[in-house]
Amino acid sequence: MNAPVSLKVNPDLQTVTQVTHWTDRLFSFRVTRPQSLRFRSGEFVMIGLAGDNGKPILRAYSIASPAWDEELEFYSIKVPDGPLTSRLQHIEVGQPIILRPKPVGTLVHDALKPGKRLWFLATGTGFAPFASLLREPETWEKYDSVVMMHTCREAGELEYGRQLVADLRDDPVIGELIGDKLQYYPTTTREQGPFMGRITDNLTSGKVFADLGLEGPLDPVRDRAMVCGSLAFNKDVAAVLEGFGLEEGSNSAPADYVIEKAFVGDGV
Ligand code: FAD
Repeated sequence: MNAPVSLKVNPDLQTVTQVTHWTDRLFSFRVTRPQSLRFRSGEFVMIGLAGDNGKPILRAYSIASPAWDEELEFYSIKVPDGPLTSRLQHIEVGQPIILRPKPVGTLVHDALKPGKRLWFLATGTGFAPFASLLREPETWEKYDSVVMMHTCREAGELEYGRQLVADLRDDPVIGELIGDKLQYYPTTTREQGPFMGRITDNLTSGKVFADLGLEGPLDPVRDRAMVCGSLAFNKDVAAVLEGFGLEEGSNSAPADYVIEKAFVGDGV
């Protein structure tokens, strides 16, 4: 006889182990990791919750933790009337979430040709795949330097990334590998602060090179880039990178830069 539906164990259920609210629009959380899940730092999976009708509400989420971490971390927006995040933002430690263990994505080291300097370019929750890649030893073994540019409207929205970067140097696994290789360049577009402006403008004007004392401009022999933001941001950054002679790569044809959407739509 078949077991009643409610008694069937869902193999894709994981348990929330930690939740941190960063602003009224942003939070991060950690969940248990299925033992069988293998992924490359920078990839995304489908996660979700059961809807009122019992059907799962699933959305794509970058895994923000590195491949070696025994748990999985996610960094999330809160869309007030969003089918998933209107509920997900209320999750608490000990509660279950659904995780489909099929990681995919293009923001992976395998999709880039070897280079000397790697640029991580993100807006908003587009920081998530870089939260994984910044903690990935391969990043520091493969490149002489890494520049993390992250742009949000307000300073509070940079806090998850700011704290993660600050903690990196004390990390037992990669602190030593990083040395002085990391340059971090957070900017705001709306709130006044020490560093401001859009990533595209700061790259084309040369401001980021001047502020960080870096050799510029971008050069396809030396520079590689990974890009994650809104559709409009990704399109604008791609045009800038192509203007400097960099070519888009993929898992099957590695090249100079790779792109992934941080979400679909215009953003909230
Ligand atoms: P939805 O119906 O999915 O979205 C409603 C509207 O909210 C969208 O039309 C869009 O305008 C806006 N929106 C959705 N997500 C965002 C966002 N992240 N930032 C700003 N505006 C947004 N979201 C994350 O929070 N973290 C991630 O790591 C993440 N990774 C993604 C990776 C990929 C490849 C893709 C395609 C999307 C990713 N998303 C991520 C977006 C995510 O899949 C959902 O859209 C988001 O969780 C909102 O779900 P929802 O059901 O509440 O609202």
